[in-house]
Amino acid sequence: IALRGVTKVYGEGQAAMHALRGIDLDIEPGAFVAMMGPSGSGKSTCMNILGCLDTPSAGSYRFEGVEVSTLSRNQRALLRRNYIGFVFQGLALWPHLSVRGNVALGLSRTGPDAAERAERIAATAKELGIDRVLGDKPGHLSGGERQRVALARALVRRLAENARAHTAVLYGAQDDWIDVADCVALLEERRLKHKRPTKRAVHLFAGIARCHCGTRMYVPSNSPKYVCTNCRNKIPVVDLDG
Ligand code: ADP
Repeated sequence: IALRGVTKVYGEGQAAMHALRGIDLDIEPGAFVAMMGPSGSGKSTCMNILGCLDTPSAGSYRFEGVEVSTLSRNQRALLRRNYIGFVFQGLALWPHLSVRGNVALGLSRTGPDAAERAERIAATAKELGIDRVLGDKPGHLSGGERQRVALARALVRRLAENARAHTAVLYGAQDDWIDVADCVALLEERRLKHKRPTKRAVHLFAGIARCHCGTRMYVPSNSPKYVCTNCRNKIPVVDLDG
């Protein structure tokens, strides 16, 4: 993914509202980038553009070498369908469908035959460690398992219709996901302030809590105490360098 000078302006004239003011961002295949920034800094606008749900007012967006801004609405829909997986912040799993049924929604209806679909769903579920719950409803799963079901739905096509293609997964993440990202793109004032490896960037505004049980988690800097997501004990927040 390569963004160059990506700008988004809503409205015109005096009412013009700059949601993004020229973003340059490269995301290598396989990279896990966390986009952070205060409310109103342009994260959603940028994610919508990356997800082909919105178009920039100016600038260039290349996805696997394709200049997305020159594509028609239908072509963008195809790009979105075939190459981009969404994991919604609220996960958006269907409660009446099994895990298998939810993951299957990630495959196109006109795609592979039933046997191949089942194989692809099973392979993705195994990779994400949810193969034993394929027959269960999401309501019976742990929070972590539900997240992985949503991730499986976003990734299932990657093993499928175009094995050579990369799938960009856009994830409306909870704070603790930041800890596993390779790098953080920090938006501020609708500009990209920096893109750095996780440790240095997170240090600017957050701490990492390390519990005696071994769990590490990202904590907003304004939380003096944090409850461990694993053992539920209260633990002190330590500075990243500490
Ligand atoms: P974030 O996700 O970081 O909170 P957004 O991308 O939602 O930020 O918004 C960036 C800026 O663009 C905000 O100031 C917001 O008010 C403005 N904005 C977003 N969408 C619209 C819109 N449809 N019309 C006008 N202004 C918008």
